[in-house]
Amino acid sequence: MRDIDRSSFSFRGRLQEQEPLSRHTSLKVGGRAELFAVPEDETDLLELVRWLDERCIPRFIMGGGYNLLVRDGGIRGAVISLERFTALELIDPYQKLLRAGAGAENPAVVRFAQELGLGGIGFIAGIPGTVGGAMKMNAGAYGSGILERTRSLTLLRNGMVADYLTEELDYGYRRLTLLPGDIILAALFSLTERDPAETEEEIRKDQELRRTKHCVGHPSAGSFFKNPPGQAAWRLLDQAGLRGTRIGGAEVSEVHSNFLINRGGATARDFLELAAVVKEQVKAVTGIELEEEVRIVGEEL
Ligand SMILES: Cc1cc2nc3c(=O)[nH]c(=O)nc-3n(C[C@H](O)[C@H](O)[C@H](O)COP(=O)(O)OP(=O)(O)OC[C@H]3O[C@@H](n4cnc5c(N)ncnc54)[C@H](O)[C@@H]3O)c2cc1C
Repeated sequence: MRDIDRSSFSFRGRLQEQEPLSRHTSLKVGGRAELFAVPEDETDLLELVRWLDERCIPRFIMGGGYNLLVRDGGIRGAVISLERFTALELIDPYQKLLRAGAGAENPAVVRFAQELGLGGIGFIAGIPGTVGGAMKMNAGAYGSGILERTRSLTLLRNGMVADYLTEELDYGYRRLTLLPGDIILAALFSLTERDPAETEEEIRKDQELRRTKHCVGHPSAGSFFKNPPGQAAWRLLDQAGLRGTRIGGAEVSEVHSNFLINRGGATARDFLELAAVVKEQVKAVTGIELEEEVRIVGEEL
């Protein structure tokens, strides 16, 4: 446990010690965060970062936890949640620029745009998580990645808040490479005019598809492995006969083989061992090396 000296620390947000991260991840596994901090606003975040940096306490930013496998030993230092950074604002009606805070949920952004008769990012309505997580993962569906539709990101970088055009950033399939310590505060979407009814239909179709293809009935982190170029990861798992393979409480879903699910009582170790078996078998049968899409973070027990 760390000694939190509040006298030199004017943080107004929520600060919890030894917070179980299984409560904050969709896989429902993972050890504890030494500190779990929820800043109230940007000033509060800056104060928190200053305090942590002065003490050389490492920090990790968590969005909705829908793409995270936290190891059983938890996360050393502070886990920061931007769940209060949910502001949505149309900042330029002519250029149709919408600013969304990093903690806003993807569906809320799509609905907000829809109410204004704007669209172009409907494909993220069904992707669970926050704007910050969507940017870091370059979340996407149906061949689109969200960074293609994003004009700029507001980053806290080296103690300074500034906007960065996405075209100047290094991103690709399910990744955005930032500098260590960078925190995404907000994203500016460049939208197009769209009839709200069309957006409604897009959302309905997406929901229907997800209900049939992704309804795995147990906690998951969505697709566990990235699709190798020109390949579908689920097909490679099927070729290797992995559907239904189980280690402890972790299982390759029978419904969608690229979803690894928590059948109850799974540990992060179960998922790591299952992922290792999957990679080994797929390599042996197809010659292809799979890479995790899910971010694996934290300490071993
Ligand atoms: C049922 C299901 C279906 C899914 N379907 C899809 C899909 O169709 N397409 C797809 O792309 N993904 C999909 N996913 C995966 C997941 O929803 C996305 O990766 C999502 O973008 C993760 O967002 P998050 O807020 O939960 O981020 P987290 O999982 O909390 O974090 C992901 C990464 O982003 C970083 N991060 C988060 N916020 C910030 C910030 N503010 N600043 C800096 N770094 C930050 C974290 O440190 C971490 O490295 C699915 C997941 C589930 C459970």
